[in-house]
Amino acid sequence: MKQLTDKTWFIYYKGFQIWLSEKEVKLIKSLMASGQKMVEISGRVFPLQDIALLKGEDNTRLEKTKKGEWQCEWGKWHQRSEQCGHDKLHQ
Ligand SMILES: [Zn+2]
Repeated sequence: MKQLTDKTWFIYYKGFQIWLSEKEVKLIKSLMASGQKMVEISGRVFPLQDIALLKGEDNTRLEKTKKGEWQCEWGKWHQRSEQCGHDKLHQ
């Protein structure tokens, strides 16, 4: 059996999503801090100022948003056509 991935972070850039190991995350953060312009990840080169460094849990948000789902002010997810009824529950 393959071990669970240690890649809990990913970068997001214009639809590209590349999962990173802790080591790669540290490298990218240090490059960002040092004012470096570009970073090479898995053979691709990205402009550091334009990439988002996101955590695995953000992937859920990304996937949902792609499907047209939206999050209401109560932090609950709704289908594209669904209306939020949470304000009624919270009154
Ligand atoms: Zn709602």
